[in-house]
Amino acid sequence: MLALDDIRHEFPILDRTIDGRQLIYLDSAATSQTPRCVVDAITYMYFRHKANVHRGVHTISQEATDRMENARERVRQWLNAESSDEIVFTRGTTEGINLVASSMGDTLYNGDEIILTVMEHHSNIVPWQLLQRHKRLRLRVVPIDEHGALNLQAYEDMFTEATRFVALTHVSNVLGTVNPVKEMIAIAHRHGVPVLIDGAQAAPHMAIDVRDLDCDFYTLSSHKMYGPAGVGVLYGKRRWLEKMPPYQGGGEMIGNVTWERTTFAELPFKFEAGTPDFVGIAAFGAALDFIDRVGLERIAAHEHELLTAATQGLMEIDGMRIFGTTPDKGAVISFLVGDASSYDVGLLLDKLGVAVRTGHHCAQPLMQHLGVTGTVRASFAVYNTLDEVNAFVAAVKRVTSILLR
Ligand code: PLP
Repeated sequence: MLALDDIRHEFPILDRTIDGRQLIYLDSAATSQTPRCVVDAITYMYFRHKANVHRGVHTISQEATDRMENARERVRQWLNAESSDEIVFTRGTTEGINLVASSMGDTLYNGDEIILTVMEHHSNIVPWQLLQRHKRLRLRVVPIDEHGALNLQAYEDMFTEATRFVALTHVSNVLGTVNPVKEMIAIAHRHGVPVLIDGAQAAPHMAIDVRDLDCDFYTLSSHKMYGPAGVGVLYGKRRWLEKMPPYQGGGEMIGNVTWERTTFAELPFKFEAGTPDFVGIAAFGAALDFIDRVGLERIAAHEHELLTAATQGLMEIDGMRIFGTTPDKGAVISFLVGDASSYDVGLLLDKLGVAVRTGHHCAQPLMQHLGVTGTVRASFAVYNTLDEVNAFVAAVKRVTSILLR
């Protein structure tokens, strides 16, 4: 098991300075940093095993294919899916949701309803809105309370004869709220409605068991899980994936092509048109090995400690407003101080070496609901330390005292 103290050495970027100050990277919810072992896996693939996958008889092609397919099996185990046929590699969460919206969209008709929540990321809003160009679909939005918890009664009351699909985030990228997705999936299933869970912010921080959740679809992004960018996973129950038409056409996804007719490949290849990012996929397997060596439970406990310290520190600042105050929230903290703009706070924090995210966080409908245009968001990962949290809180104090003078 990798000791927490040794972890920082795995991330050379953390040694950087910004304007002469030590970098404090608190933007892991946007993308996490990448450990040496993952970059080594990328280098190793490029130097030793780079050949196109699945269709080569030569040795290197078979090695590359094995590495990609081993990663698929690794992901299957990670998510506890029944079969690796249910693991589709995508470019990320966004593509996974677009795939499902586009393919399921074929089965929707005028007047059908889709349930989302007010805390969705744009990537779980816009794909459904795109379907509205061709069909009169109604999007119904589950509200939240003042702490940022979903109103479960309102959710349950939303189901009608017309409800066809539910798509919701597991963990909010703004509020940190961990939604009771298992319970919400059970409610949807009582109405015969399938559910997609956007796991972009959950998968880096907690064990995901798709069979226990009983979700119909689950999406995640490698780059938020210490893995490379440009790789994601869509888990789908076999019975849905089999029914759904392909999302894109091209090589890899076909059975046989003639001018008259094309048949499609078996799962999961039906949904993987074109040459996949087999290097990134193999390296994502190395990222999962890294998480395993540290231990997901230890990561979660460490992040929780950082979040608690940051929350306590920030609360001491006059005029502090924290958005998202549910117990057991995820490793993000969104806030505003007085009427200081999030942009100005972020810019000045950067001058002190502190990297945070500012603005609407790709959740503009949530911002409208909160009555703000943006927030400052700090997010934590396994490599952050309590010293960094203390330095961050001191920096926020300093910056806001300047801005609110
Ligand atoms: N969903 C949530 C909750 C997110 O936080 C993000 C990214 O921040 C996404 C979806 C989109 O992920 P990606 O850009 O990796 O596709």
